[in-house]
Amino acid sequence: MRAFYHPDQSLHDPQQYMRFGKIVAPKDLPERTAQLLGALRKHGITPEQPAASGTDPILAVHSEGFVRFLETLWPRWLELPERGPEAWPNTFPYWSGRTDESVRPPCRPTGIMGQLGWYLGDLSVPVGEHCWTSTLRSAETAVAGADAILSGERAVYSLCRPSGHHARADRATGFCYINNTAVAAQRLRSNFGKVAILDVDAHHGDGTQQIFYRRDDVLTISVHADPANYYPFFTGYAGETGNGPGEGFNLNLPLDHGAGGEAMAAAVDRAGAAIKAFGAEALVIALGYDAHKDDPIGVLKLDATDFGTIGAKVKAFGLPTLVVQEGGYAIEAIGGCLDAFLGGFK
Ligand SMILES: [Zn+2]
Repeated sequence: MRAFYHPDQSLHDPQQYMRFGKIVAPKDLPERTAQLLGALRKHGITPEQPAASGTDPILAVHSEGFVRFLETLWPRWLELPERGPEAWPNTFPYWSGRTDESVRPPCRPTGIMGQLGWYLGDLSVPVGEHCWTSTLRSAETAVAGADAILSGERAVYSLCRPSGHHARADRATGFCYINNTAVAAQRLRSNFGKVAILDVDAHHGDGTQQIFYRRDDVLTISVHADPANYYPFFTGYAGETGNGPGEGFNLNLPLDHGAGGEAMAAAVDRAGAAIKAFGAEALVIALGYDAHKDDPIGVLKLDATDFGTIGAKVKAFGLPTLVVQEGGYAIEAIGGCLDAFLGGFK
């Protein structure tokens, strides 16, 4: 299996996020990538550096205003007279909670604080000095993976960091800034008529769902912990099936908190049936490990070996497959999860 990764992705070093009413240490530590690179080495895989594809592939799924905001934010933040260590909002616009918010109007504030509240959806996406560089490289890693699939590879792993699946067309949330999975899926559409996304991160892939919610050419499936009492709370319910032409092309498979490998395996089987019925020609797996029982913000109970089962099942779908790295924060466990996934996928 080929893999892609750029060392600049480790530059992103967030300092803080809000949890249970307290500003706490971040969970998306740069050390995560070292663990994942170690797992790749075990399988004899040396990741290639992605080409500098720039913002064009990103703009295929994200709004121009949002991308330019992220790209230019840091120097603007430095102009504030009394500022914290990272760009952070302190107010948010009202949101109705509607699942389909693809019609959000352009951002009206021209000042930085209004734009921060508009484009950063919560207090888990601080923007520091290197955030944009790492985010761009992460997206380029996804693009390079998609391009390898387009040139005939059957299986590719993109070691993306920061993660992407919570990022909406015009909003960063949940440690995610640019939606790498969505960027890659859109890229694959240049040569594949129908692309399926299967997200097995413990959190609902709300950004991915939102980006493709009105489309019938990209099937979005997410297996995740029940959002009724788990991030991202407001989406991820079974009744969200798509809108307009996208009706019937979104499938949410929430799992009870405490569920383990058996429940996950059954959900992946259901996803496989849906992917087959859809007639997918290519597949993107949004692979997170925060369903692991040791994850510090997790509520599911998978073992590392359960990720091997996921890998084997995904391989059996028989499609050109791009694996995009999402979350997973148990530093000691995530290398074993990727190791098991790759072992199962063989
Ligand atoms: Zn997650």
